[in-house]
Amino acid sequence: MNMTPMVPFMKRFPHLAASETRSVTVTGRDDLPDGEYGFIEFYCNEPQCDCRRVLVVVLRPESGWKFWAAINYGWESVEFYQKWAGAPAWDRAYWKGPFLDPMSEQTPYAPALLRLFKFILKSPGYAQRLQKHYQLFRTAVDEEYAQRNPTLRFREFPQRAR
Ligand SMILES: [Zn+2]
Repeated sequence: MNMTPMVPFMKRFPHLAASETRSVTVTGRDDLPDGEYGFIEFYCNEPQCDCRRVLVVVLRPESGWKFWAAINYGWESVEFYQKWAGAPAWDRAYWKGPFLDPMSEQTPYAPALLRLFKFILKSPGYAQRLQKHYQLFRTAVDEEYAQRNPTLRFREFPQRAR
């Protein structure tokens, strides 16, 4: 369940997204129509959040923003998501994934696209790239937030009364 606002990586990093967004050209598979599938990354836009996950939306060039599948993927341990305080208890354990996002639009091809995502997730460097994009995105969100709220910048280090 996505209670936090998820925003496309390309909105903050258009050039990097253009060069580092994964796409796959499918030919001759039984479970998917031939053609190109883009794996578009969405990250959390909530200031001071550290949910360490990505929402990957599968798009095709012919169909614009139609979601062919929406996949949640968290790279930390199940224990990390169970402890993380930003989500209701019933939701936390399920963030590890990858799994099809229950709150998003899906198509009958979504299960096949989830299998394809799991496959490319094993390719060299891809999981690390998602984590790097998350870090870049989160740093930008928090810097923007700190600039808008200068008095909050140091709130993690409260002065102790003596
Ligand atoms: Zn978050």
